[in-house]
Amino acid sequence: MSKRKMNFDTKVIHAGQPHPRIEGAVNVPIFQSSTFEYKGQKNYDDLVYVRLNNTPSHKSVSDKIAQLEGAEKAVVTSSGMSAITTTLLHFLNAGDHILAHKNLYGGTAHFMKHGLPSYGIEVDLIDARNTENWEEKLKDNTKVIYVETMTNPLVEVVELEAIVNFAKSNNLISIIDNTFASPVIFCPIKFGFDISLHSATKYLNGHSDLAAGAIIGTEKNIKAISSTLNHLGGSLDPNTCYLLDRGIKTLSVRMERQCFNALKIAEFLNDHSGVESVNYPGLISNPNHDRAKRFLCGYGAMLSFILKGSEQTANDFINKLEIPVHTWSLGGVESLVVRPAQTTHSNFTDEELLQAGIDRRLIRYSVGIESIEDLIEDFKFAIDD
Ligand SMILES: *Cc1c(COP(=O)(O)O)cnc(C)c1O
Repeated sequence: MSKRKMNFDTKVIHAGQPHPRIEGAVNVPIFQSSTFEYKGQKNYDDLVYVRLNNTPSHKSVSDKIAQLEGAEKAVVTSSGMSAITTTLLHFLNAGDHILAHKNLYGGTAHFMKHGLPSYGIEVDLIDARNTENWEEKLKDNTKVIYVETMTNPLVEVVELEAIVNFAKSNNLISIIDNTFASPVIFCPIKFGFDISLHSATKYLNGHSDLAAGAIIGTEKNIKAISSTLNHLGGSLDPNTCYLLDRGIKTLSVRMERQCFNALKIAEFLNDHSGVESVNYPGLISNPNHDRAKRFLCGYGAMLSFILKGSEQTANDFINKLEIPVHTWSLGGVESLVVRPAQTTHSNFTDEELLQAGIDRRLIRYSVGIESIEDLIEDFKFAIDD
């Protein structure tokens, strides 16, 4: 590629590719080699070794991800949770304090509640949608503020700009899990966050066929975090690097279709007499709509809703749907449907569910790239029947 600036849709294909191409190969070959010849490197972290996530297979896909988010550097990891726990353990030491949004991805929430405190790190939860009490939760030892671009399963958008400003004025490291948005609709580093994290298992890869993660930021931060990662060991297999790179090539076309389908489904549900409520930031009536419009370049492809009736009504509905697969996870080309209270949030007590605003009847839908006519027909059949 020339040195001219590439647009996002071009970068998903070409960014990070080696120059010259390796033996002319259109795709980056899979470097199925754990170790590479010594070339006089001075530092351990510069040796080329599969666990150090720095083989040519790792480098090309990491560079692509960094360029997609407009950042200096990125490193891929063995899973989203590996990216998250490694980054938190890198920045936080015993005696430090972190502020985190009260509704986080289940694995992250569990690590905040049980993992960090066991290492002597204090955790306080805030409502990142509303700046009211952030100041009073701040302590002398607060080091990090942690949020997600859009929350699970209520698809709420937090006060992203206020978080960045609060972090800057209080000298905190701002970390965001950007999985639900993907760089198609939000680029945290350009927006002012210090670190952006991904479960690349979801939209980045988009085919529900691998686990991977990514950590994105400045060259300095990513080099330092990589050094921690090198010893915690969350490395990505070279074959998975190749699959992830292949998945990312279709990220923009997938997201465009998924966001389009999601808005159509949300509008359909919103107008349906059998539906009690719909959570999708693309709906003008949604309380997150203004924030989504201000901060994001789209509304994403996750939505959740409650049907009029009981938990049994929700279960019957899910069983009648023919297209989406009944399972957790998200972000793939195929639509997926799940009841959080029954699965992803099944370890929540009734009181915790209430606090998190999750009705037991809530249904979450990860919208795929199928024909929108077929998806809506499927809904009509399953609600009306
Ligand atoms: C799935 C997910 C994770 C965890 O990612 P894994 O790849 O399953 O480890 C973290 N954050 C969010 C928002 C997710 O959806």
